Amino acid sequence: MAPAGGGGSRAGKMAPSHVLKCCQKVLAWVPVAFIALVVAWSYYAYVVELCLFTITSTGEKVVYLVIFHLSFVMFVWSYWKTIFTSPASPSSEFCLSKTDKEQYEKEERPESQQEILRRAAKDLPVYTTTTSRAIRYCDRCQLIKPDRCHHCSACDLCVLKMDHHCPWVNNCVGFSNYKFFLLFLLYSLLYCLFVAATVLQYFIKFWTLCRRKSAENCPKNELLDTRAKFHVLFLFFVAAMFFISILSLFSYHCWLVGKNRSTIEAFRAPMFRNGPDKNGFSLGCSKNLKEVFGDEKKYWLLPIFTSLGDGCNFPTRLVIMDPEQLTVSSQNEPAKSSGPSQPFPTRPLSESQNRLLANDNQWAEASSEDENVKSGVKKHIVVSLES
Ligand SMILES: [Zn+2]
Ligand SMILES: [Zn+2]
Repeated sequence: MAPAGGGGSRAGKMAPSHVLKCCQKVLAWVPVAFIALVVAWSYYAYVVELCLFTITSTGEKVVYLVIFHLSFVMFVWSYWKTIFTSPASPSSEFCLSKTDKEQYEKEERPESQQEILRRAAKDLPVYTTTTSRAIRYCDRCQLIKPDRCHHCSACDLCVLKMDHHCPWVNNCVGFSNYKFFLLFLLYSLLYCLFVAATVLQYFIKFWTLCRRKSAENCPKNELLDTRAKFHVLFLFFVAAMFFISILSLFSYHCWLVGKNRSTIEAFRAPMFRNGPDKNGFSLGCSKNLKEVFGDEKKYWLLPIFTSLGDGCNFPTRLVIMDPEQLTVSSQNEPAKSSGPSQPFPTRPLSESQNRLLANDNQWAEASSEDENVKSGVKKHIVVSLES
């Protein structure tokens, strides 16, 4: 961390911005290193100081050690996967073609730029726009943003279904690792809960410990004032503190999963053709859960990628993917949805949003031929909607 200042002043050969970036990169690992140190210490304090030095009953020792290691392994595994799973970026089909890119850069008027984007987005599965009804385009990555995708300034890339950039894992939480992140929260809660619950009785014993240094003068079930005291007391405080702080975050994310919302979408509703809709991607609680955890329950608690979809296409309440299901779905469409009476066409929003070209009739005609193209692209289909 320190050499950055020296590097910057050195003859100016090395670009200061480059040094700054390196420095930032190293500093970004500090929270992760902090967590790793706390976890490593908690391992030592629990296994060595508590189980080996303090607990006398062999049965208790074995049970504690087995459960502890189980939760420790699951916690470390899911934390590792959250940190080291690279954020997923949009596929190349969302990038502008070379000619479009050149044209886009030459154009100065925003309307003409939108025209180019609208044309490029025509065959893409894009259903959301900016609040001003413009195609969501990332100037930095030079691509049309898929639904739920956002540019992360910390990672400097567009991240699919971006939730937030988490400093504690030094990574973006998004489509590729959202399940791992949830499991990381869950297993850290279980880890802290188990440690706090099993340490409690020794915490109380140490708190009221026998001040006499030799075992001979001490009553039988009192603990001596040993080095373990410090570790056990701290272990309880740290575990309880982390448990309380993670609990609120985990509860919030459980609520988000149930609603099929990312943290970003919870703050700013995605803009659909019918206007902003916070529940635009919600398919009902159990289907929302499966979107993140997958269809097979046996993999739900393992930090293995099982989320549905490809991160670019998302089934929504309003957008029906498969033409064959159109009638079924439109019947199931909740009456309260403010949309048009016909099912939401599979055509990207782009054209309808063009104030100059807006022509729903022309659009509806064209949408039928596009459905054939789209149905090949879509990976999973909403057949019926739960409300
Ligand atoms: Zn970007
Ligand atoms: Zn990020």
